[in-house]
Amino acid sequence: MSKKAIIAIDQGTTSSRSIAFSEDGAILALAQKELTLHYPNKGWVEQNANDIWQDTLWALKDVIAQAEGQGYEAAVIGITNQRETTIIWDRNTGKPIYNAIVWQDRRTAEYCQKLKDTGAEADITEKTGLLLDPYFSASKVAWILDHVDGARAKADAGQLAFGTVDSFILWHLTGGDVHATDATNASRTMLMNIQTGAWDDDLLALFNIPRSLLPEIRDNIGHFGDAAENVIGKTIAIGGIAGDQQAALIGQACFDTGMVKSTYGTGCFVLMNIGDEFKISKNKLLTTVAYQIDGQITYALEGSIFVAGAAIQWLRDNAEFFAHASESEALALSVSDNNGVYFVPAFTGLGAPYWAPDAKAAILGLSRESNKAHITRAALEAQAYQTQDLMSAFAADSGVDIGTLRCDGGLVANNFVCQYLADILNKAVELPEVTETTALGAAYLAGVYAGIYSGLDDVAARWACAKSYSPSIMADKRQVALDGWAQAVGKVLYT
Ligand code: ADP
Repeated sequence: MSKKAIIAIDQGTTSSRSIAFSEDGAILALAQKELTLHYPNKGWVEQNANDIWQDTLWALKDVIAQAEGQGYEAAVIGITNQRETTIIWDRNTGKPIYNAIVWQDRRTAEYCQKLKDTGAEADITEKTGLLLDPYFSASKVAWILDHVDGARAKADAGQLAFGTVDSFILWHLTGGDVHATDATNASRTMLMNIQTGAWDDDLLALFNIPRSLLPEIRDNIGHFGDAAENVIGKTIAIGGIAGDQQAALIGQACFDTGMVKSTYGTGCFVLMNIGDEFKISKNKLLTTVAYQIDGQITYALEGSIFVAGAAIQWLRDNAEFFAHASESEALALSVSDNNGVYFVPAFTGLGAPYWAPDAKAAILGLSRESNKAHITRAALEAQAYQTQDLMSAFAADSGVDIGTLRCDGGLVANNFVCQYLADILNKAVELPEVTETTALGAAYLAGVYAGIYSGLDDVAARWACAKSYSPSIMADKRQVALDGWAQAVGKVLYT
């Protein structure tokens, strides 16, 4: 078997997957299992950590077998994962002491608010680039230690290990040999000082978390360990790890300062490469590690839109406007404009740059002629307006002029959305040939480790554009649309 396959593990919020890529980035095989989310209490979101591991293991083995069946050798493994989700396990047995607490979980809201009231947030942001919010791992770790019987004593005795999902999978893949994570996942725990690249003793003290719990922080590319023969049936090196949004940034080859990737799924995550200088946002964006290579950190600004494709789901399932999300495109194009209708999809509050968790969604500007086509068009247009809000924040914070936007995610199947994005952002919008950018990013990292790619330049040269959209509306029309949106958001925020 001379042909090499790179195997990516992509452990996400809703599924555990593995994908085998050929050296030229083509998908050879895919295996996937859906993952159940549990909601044991209001605001609580958990997953069974054993399922996460067992499903990931199954998908990995299945994909390796499929690739081998096609005459490929599984050369190296890369891992990407849902970020922030928190697991604590027993070092002796490998068994989690509590379910995985998922990033969406809000049980520590009050705890975080109390810390905020003490004035702790400014120092946290200065060190971690994050806002003091239950979203990140630190308060979830503290909760498990304080609420699971005997956990605190075991932690103090050095018997427990904490990890984000990457770390948990790595530990199990290596048969319990390696307890490590990468700098991107570590940067989302709220325990890492992203200016120094190390765990921070003050933050550990603030959250009352013993250092003995923590994994070692490593570069994104390197020998993380070997997946053991008694675990997967053969020995394969693990050569790269990155959290999902950073992996997508890498899969989209956004390696130059000012390059931006935007992923439109249920929600939307936008990351901008800001180079090697740490900057704190003045517009409620997060600063995070984009990647760390040879000890050198490259930073990113990150903004998220809570509701992107979910607004189309709402029109489909709640408003029953259509049976399939894809029908929204023809419906939107059946009218010549939005006729003054704006849809602010704040179903779960508004994210950056507003951070208004209690805001509610609204459809505004309705008249007697308004119909479901206008409302659908408004929901699709909102994708562009929300992105433009983030772009303004990115530009203000970074001082960098954003060139093009590289997009991916389920919603980019909609041509109207992509064209309107280009129109409203007044920038070129590019879609990649390989749409599985998250898994591809993990594969690229592992491929560089294995010498299949010579480095990030080589990866950048391989990135191929499948489709691009150029701005096509006049400035005055764009301004009218943006003014209408600003007014609509104003009504949602201030009434
Ligand atoms: P996730 O990874 O968050 O599950 P996906 O990347 O699979 O999401 O994208 C699915 C989302 O995209 C859904 O919310 C769906 O409503 C929306 N979507 C998919 N195809 C289209 C389309 N052609 N037009 C508009 N929305 C779409």
